[in-house]
Amino acid sequence: MMNCTTLLKEYNLKVTPQRVAIVEELYKNGHMNIDDLYKKLLSKFPSISLATIYKNVNAMIEKVFLNEVKIPNSKSVYELVKEEHSHLVCSSCGKIEDIDLSIGSLVEEATASKNYKIQEASVVFTGLCPTCSNK
Ligand SMILES: [Zn+2]
Ligand SMILES: [Zn+2]
Repeated sequence: MMNCTTLLKEYNLKVTPQRVAIVEELYKNGHMNIDDLYKKLLSKFPSISLATIYKNVNAMIEKVFLNEVKIPNSKSVYELVKEEHSHLVCSSCGKIEDIDLSIGSLVEEATASKNYKIQEASVVFTGLCPTCSNK
């Protein structure tokens, strides 16, 4: 198990029990939206509010410790920052998975065809996961 306290400190984030709990949950579950986090944290901190969780999550996004993944037609999910990757979202069960793809050629194509300086690209694929497509 990684040491959340050291990790938070490395990113110049104040260490609070709530933040440690958020990091632990994201480490365990990979991607979670704000409601999932709220439900999990409520069991440990019965008086915590949704606003507090938002505030903590946003502080951690600001320090590039967490990453917000925008999911089309659904709530954003959060994850611990790691190497750039794309996402697969199951439209049936809502499962979110990482996928490593080189999107460099896409970026090059976009740059060339529209003469845009691309700063950021995020790719989210929506479809059916193997479990759901076999039903
Ligand atoms: Zn599914
Ligand atoms: Zn991810």
